[in-house]
Amino acid sequence: MTIFPIRQYGDPVLRQATKVIEEIDGAVAKLAADMIETMYAAPGVGLAANQVGVQRRLFVYDVGAGPVVVINPTIVDSSGEWTYQEGCLSVPGLSWEIVRPGSVHLNGYDVDGNELSIEADELEGRVFQHEMDHLDGVLLIERLDADQRREAKAVLRARTLQLPGPDPEGPRAPEL
Ligand code: ZN
Repeated sequence: MTIFPIRQYGDPVLRQATKVIEEIDGAVAKLAADMIETMYAAPGVGLAANQVGVQRRLFVYDVGAGPVVVINPTIVDSSGEWTYQEGCLSVPGLSWEIVRPGSVHLNGYDVDGNELSIEADELEGRVFQHEMDHLDGVLLIERLDADQRREAKAVLRARTLQLPGPDPEGPRAPEL
């Protein structure tokens, strides 16, 4: 098992949309297992592949019922509204109240290539929307209202100046 460094706000990989995984093979399963370890070590409830520098459509999460891997996810339906104090492993130590749909229906594939179809609300539904944003190159900063965003940018600008880039000696996730 490998624990990868988590890419931080300011790293361009977080702003790039990820690509579909063409073949779900052993390399994908290994990456998913390492991402789960990385998520638990953080600790966090969700982690998208580009947060470990891999530009592919894959995320892992655990909202208390065990780890789940979702490959090539799509949100096919959403409804309602739910406000939740949302944070991100790539923007550590900060969180904001964000309004998003309360219920979502997510489709995708597991590591064995089986189709997944999950209807989720509250935390699980929020994790889906947050991780889908990551895979589209969107950070939660984009979901803030104007006042929240001004405040966030000021804090993050000051912080980014002090942050080192990814450790060049640290483990790198393999490209798929
Ligand atoms: Zn995040």
